[in-house]
Amino acid sequence: MVKRNPHFLNLSESYLFPEVMRRVRHYQQNHPEVELLSLSIGDTSEPLTRSATLGLLNQAEKLGTREGYKGYGLEQGEFLLREKITEVFYPNLIDPDEIFVSDGAKCDIGRLQLLFGQTAALAVQNPTYPVYVDTSTVVGNRSISYLPCTPENGFFPDLSKLADVDLLYLCSPNNPTGSVITKPQLQDLVSWAQSKKAFIIFDAAYSGFIQDPTLPRTIYEIPGADEVAIEVSSFSKLIGFTGVRLGWTIIPKKLRFENGHPVHKDYTRFVTTFFNGASVIAQAGGLAALSLEGLEEMRQMLAFYLENASLIRQELQRQNLTVYGGDNAPYLWVKCASKPSWDLFQTLLEKTGIIATPGIGFGSQGEGYLRFSSFGSRPHILKALERIRTAWPQDW
Ligand code: PLP
Repeated sequence: MVKRNPHFLNLSESYLFPEVMRRVRHYQQNHPEVELLSLSIGDTSEPLTRSATLGLLNQAEKLGTREGYKGYGLEQGEFLLREKITEVFYPNLIDPDEIFVSDGAKCDIGRLQLLFGQTAALAVQNPTYPVYVDTSTVVGNRSISYLPCTPENGFFPDLSKLADVDLLYLCSPNNPTGSVITKPQLQDLVSWAQSKKAFIIFDAAYSGFIQDPTLPRTIYEIPGADEVAIEVSSFSKLIGFTGVRLGWTIIPKKLRFENGHPVHKDYTRFVTTFFNGASVIAQAGGLAALSLEGLEEMRQMLAFYLENASLIRQELQRQNLTVYGGDNAPYLWVKCASKPSWDLFQTLLEKTGIIATPGIGFGSQGEGYLRFSSFGSRPHILKALERIRTAWPQDW
């Protein structure tokens, strides 16, 4: 008989969002008349930008011709796309050869766990995007420290408490709190990693939402970060590619293991073995989306979601709630009554038909919070605002 991978025993039974949907389905079975409005999962709602759509179409057409057909591409990604990503997001900061194009940031986070293996001591923010913890648990890693990130410390971990950590996962703009790490904070982090000989895995999947020009959009804005940091990013929220699938990871050539071996070399070996490259159609769409016209369309799409965030925040504040995030991020982190957040989730569902995400799903420091996502069409958001205005639980 085949034995079950024992590390699965250390995972919670389901990932957060399937659990949210299980409870929603249960409610809907008993209340089929209620029109539910989801402000829960961070999935995009707006159609692809025109440039991205044309890029996808043209590449698909080409593949249907003898002259234009091609099979496997480079495992690391098309050079033109890597060059364009460098030009748009990392001018003079990194080299196209340091970019590994992929099928998305989530998949890359899983790959990084396999790269570092089960012995690396990890630290994550609390609350955190659950994927860092779950993917490391699956590879058998049991050494995970949770660093409280709360309003009291500005959602930034206390570096003095960080002992014996090999890999520190950080997400900015943050999912779920919507907070953004400032430049001085990022400088401190890079100095910390240099002094401890640790690596930072910096998740910049939401960097496109940053409006404040003083806030860093990539960790490589900090001198020396290329000796200590890996950055993971994604086209998902930039241009609505959550279903198309395209992302990238940066492994600087200066990043070295303890014995001096370049991490870049191992990751190249790894992706050529485990991954045959991102879809050439998706890559063509991503490349087209980074044209001048495409970038303007991207800017408009991101501004649209941020306007949604601002509308939701105003309405929640009218209910006298303390709301964090939403200025430079698509998420709002909302302090509600001091009740377990699954109870908050359930009460909100029953009173308003709105689905939010219970903060506890992101870690113990999320207790008493709900996360609201600003992804959604405008009519959908306006309907949700009306429900918040008229049916919000009075005792919160
Ligand atoms: N990183 C964070 C912080 C996210 O919130 C998400 C998706 O919600 C991802 C990565 C996954 O991105 P992708 O769609 O590229 O896999």
